[in-house]
Amino acid sequence: MVGQYRADSTWMKYHVGCAAMLFGHNGPVIIIAGGGIGGLTLGCALSRARIPFRIFERAAELRPLGAGIALSSNAFQALAYIGIEDQVWECGWELAVAEICDSQGRVLIRVQMRDFTAGGSRAMTRADLQQTLLGALGAKVETGRAVVGYQSTDARGRASCDAGR
Ligand SMILES: Cc1cc2nc3c(=O)[nH]c(=O)nc-3n(C[C@H](O)[C@H](O)[C@H](O)COP(=O)(O)OP(=O)(O)OC[C@H]3O[C@@H](n4cnc5c(N)ncnc54)[C@H](O)[C@@H]3O)c2cc1C
Repeated sequence: MVGQYRADSTWMKYHVGCAAMLFGHNGPVIIIAGGGIGGLTLGCALSRARIPFRIFERAAELRPLGAGIALSSNAFQALAYIGIEDQVWECGWELAVAEICDSQGRVLIRVQMRDFTAGGSRAMTRADLQQTLLGALGAKVETGRAVVGYQSTDARGRASCDAGR
């Protein structure tokens, strides 16, 4: 597929977070734009399905943005489907109670998460989630490379990247 991968930006703008099919001599390769938690999770799913993929991340290095994240049972259902539920579960802890506060810190609403979502929720740092997904991925993220365009026809698609910073 590398022969069809173009290091220029002549094709249409690519929408962040979408993947384009890139057909090469040995079958389709999925191009994932962005190594955020969405892109990494998609990579894990494709890896387990044995579908070739590449992840391009425009940032020079992967850094978790934000502090923490809470995942509920719907997320764990998806993670179970791709076989990484246990790893992600282990990197977090139970989120028993959630509070919504005003600007002075006074509690407006207090929710027992087990009442709110079936199976409860898990909280984790974004750094831990990212590292867990990277560990499960079994492939490298190609940093410093932005997807800048894609072209789609009925039968096939092509993604293009800049040479990257
Ligand atoms: C304050 C806040 C709190 C949140 N809390 C929760 C929560 O508790 N639970 C929850 O489930 N969700 C939460 N979310 C939502 C969650 O963070 C997002 O749904 C999730 O980060 C989306 O992941 P992503 O990989 O699609 O995008 P991102 O995490 O935004 O990652 C996108 C990546 O793509 C890269 N990129 C962008 N354009 C290109 C390009 N053209 N080529 C190559 N790379 C590119 C970027 O550099 C980035 O690394 C929260 C969001 C915010 C803002």
